[in-house]
Amino acid sequence: MKKYIYLILAVVLITFIAMLNDSSLKNESTRSVQDSTKTKKENKMEFQINKSEDEWKKELTPEQYKVLREKGTERAFTGKFYKNKETGIYVCAACGNELFSSDTKYESGSGWPSYWKPVSEHSVKLVDDYTFGMHRKEVLCARCGSHLGHVFDDGPDPTGKRYCINSISLDFKKDSTKSDSGK
Ligand code: FE
Repeated sequence: MKKYIYLILAVVLITFIAMLNDSSLKNESTRSVQDSTKTKKENKMEFQINKSEDEWKKELTPEQYKVLREKGTERAFTGKFYKNKETGIYVCAACGNELFSSDTKYESGSGWPSYWKPVSEHSVKLVDDYTFGMHRKEVLCARCGSHLGHVFDDGPDPTGKRYCINSISLDFKKDSTKSDSGK
């Protein structure tokens, strides 16, 4: 009789442990869904500016927040800098970091401002992006980690790169010392 009691206790114990494991797995998967807007590599990245999402929400407009912090994409051909031909520097709309020069801006026909290189190799960070069932290189501001756009390998010489950037992720500092060539 005692043997049966031990057997039942053992079965109850094993079932209990199995249930615990299952629920911790579920918690893990919930967490990974919550973190899905950030890649694993990005979570390990350190940025000079580290604000909480609540702070960013207060500083940015809802439209800016959606793109810069939640990796949204503005509609093609709608951004304020898509057709901008003025001479100057494009900076991060979230932190002011200098990102792209008007000298490297070109008409890609994509509907988003396009550049063939950033101001310096240290001004942006690239991370692998596997969303929407494809592999793309995401472009982040190297200073604050905000989402800017993606970079593709179909750009013009001399780099062959196309930095496809959301206008809403940018501000523009016009160079008042140069007259616009109307390019
Ligand atoms: Fe930034």
